[in-house]
Amino acid sequence: HAKAAGRNTYAVFGTHMDELLKKRRALEHDLREAVESKTGIEVHYQPVFSAETNAVVSLEALVRWQHPELGFISPDVFIPVAEDCGAINQIGAIVLEDACTLMAEFPDIEVAINASPTELAAPGYPLRVLSALAKAGIKPSRLEIELTESAAADENGRMAQAVSTLRNAGIRFAIDDFGTGYSSFSRIQKIEADRIKIDRSFINEMHKDDSRALVIAMINMAQAKGLMITAEGVETHEQREQLMELGCDHLQGFLLSRPLGPAAARALLADHTYECAIA
Ligand code: C2E
Ligand code: MG
Ligand code: MG
Ligand code: MG
Repeated sequence: HAKAAGRNTYAVFGTHMDELLKKRRALEHDLREAVESKTGIEVHYQPVFSAETNAVVSLEALVRWQHPELGFISPDVFIPVAEDCGAINQIGAIVLEDACTLMAEFPDIEVAINASPTELAAPGYPLRVLSALAKAGIKPSRLEIELTESAAADENGRMAQAVSTLRNAGIRFAIDDFGTGYSSFSRIQKIEADRIKIDRSFINEMHKDDSRALVIAMINMAQAKGLMITAEGVETHEQREQLMELGCDHLQGFLLSRPLGPAAARALLADHTYECAIA
């Protein structure tokens, strides 16, 4: 019996793996096609607010993919796929171009884009970013790049080199999802940055003493290093009030605004009194 059960388990496992691989390859194929034809790919923008004045200080570009059959697929699902199959470089280019267009339309705003470590380490990345900005006539100081540290160590130091080149040109860097995974206290010594974005998992749990203690430690550390601080995932009034008291510079989250589609983002920016509605 044991043998039969074992074989059966193996067969089920094998089939399952097969299916997963097939699904993955299909997803890669569809993603490549979407990226090549630029269909179904859109950039949304989530406003970031000053904790002090409630004004919009910048917008974070967040890529969206509407799959022809499967519907909306989360970037948490397709960005790792894009990193594996190389489509991440084209996605990054699409997002950057969209951000440049928005900044050209609204000369007072700043935009943050997300970039994968693999993207930054790709040869020619700094030059591609700087020429996209130059072509659109946008000062590099209006762009911030958010980096999530991944497990992949920067072996040849190419990512660090790219960060350095871009920072020298005036682009700012933020460490995204700070406090999670590899984006923690030891890494911050190694990567040059201007800002930390405290991961929303900590903000979410701030009603608990130990999570609040961690948020306070992150804020103290960032302030000691002269870094700006954004709290992401602010969903309640209590969180907002606490973060303001603790000295967070910028706040972002569903309480203040969800990510906005192209038209809604433009409507917000056109209304030049744009301030957080809940202030
Ligand atoms: P992220 O950069 O940390 O972006 C924040 C994510 O949290 C976004 O999810 C946003 O919609 C969500 N969010 C914002 N406020 C709240 C809130 O109050 N509550 C909750 N529950 N969620 C909130 P999204 O758009 O699904 O993006 C997920 C991740 O995908 C991003 O995390 C980023 O790492 C990655 N990503 C998105 N766009 C790009 C891109 O253009 N390039 C690259 N390389 N990665 C991207
Ligand atoms: Mg981000
Ligand atoms: Mg984040
Ligand atoms: Mg993230």
